[in-house]
Amino acid sequence: SLLVVGSVNADLTVQAPRIPAPGETVLGGDVRVSPGGKGANQAVAAALAGAPVTFCGAAGHDAFREIALRGLTRAGVDLARLHTLDAPTGLALITVAPGGENAITVASGANAHLTPAQLPGDLGGFTHLLLQGELPPEVTREAARRAHAAGLTVLHNAAPARTPDPALLAHTHHLIVNEHELAAFAAGRAGPDREAQVRALLGRGPGAVTVTLGARGSLTATPDATFRLPAFPVTPLDTTGAGDTFCGVLAAGLVAGQPLADALHAAGVAGALACTRPGAQDAMPTRAEIRAALTG
Ligand code: ADP
Repeated sequence: SLLVVGSVNADLTVQAPRIPAPGETVLGGDVRVSPGGKGANQAVAAALAGAPVTFCGAAGHDAFREIALRGLTRAGVDLARLHTLDAPTGLALITVAPGGENAITVASGANAHLTPAQLPGDLGGFTHLLLQGELPPEVTREAARRAHAAGLTVLHNAAPARTPDPALLAHTHHLIVNEHELAAFAAGRAGPDREAQVRALLGRGPGAVTVTLGARGSLTATPDATFRLPAFPVTPLDTTGAGDTFCGVLAAGLVAGQPLADALHAAGVAGALACTRPGAQDAMPTRAEIRAALTG
């Protein structure tokens, strides 16, 4: 089964006529309150795709807790490893302007207070670990180290973009980045050719590296193969959560024992389907919807 160690937030989103300038107040529309955080999003995507999923993370005991956990609970994710801390539940304050431009302030709250000591000591029963970059780096690094030592396959979505952590990379089996995050990793190395940049990362630990390319699909390199997958054609309405859906569904496929090419294919279809509906977790497809799209 899949263990996700990551962030969980409540997202407060408001449409406004423009992003407020410093010192300015703008009047927006009705607030939309929804569950978010890359960790929770990816756990929900994997569970909806059919994987047994356990989430390890941290929330507070305030009014935002229930909102933050709503999607995880509905998708049937095991929350026995969730820690309730004496800190506010993580919050993302999102302003969206016409045309989709946004400004986001994240109040990490409980996510920032999780410590390596709170990671599960016994990883028995888990085959795969899925990580992102929204927890304290020492927690993510220690989770990867322990999982690697215990024989789990470690998937790491290096989002949001930042300078890579060599120790984390060394314990990662499958690295997933978008183009922006790839640029952060490839800075100063390997030249402008994307496939060369991806292949250069293979030398730093991972046995597979995937770069997601939005409407252009994805590219995955392993030491002996390259998988180029075109995007599944859709008319995008809201691309929020496409990357999280891709990562969760990829992990779910690998947990189910699918060959890498099949898991990547399903992940791409799921990412595309998530673009056809508004929101992040609310837009994620079920296993039945992914299957229906795959079989056309
Ligand atoms: P992120 O959300 O992290 O920026 P991407 O935009 O690369 O990630 O999207 C992740 C995946 O979702 C892509 O690899 C692709 O499979 C799918 N996807 C994203 N945008 C589209 C789109 N406009 N049309 C079809 N598929 C898409």
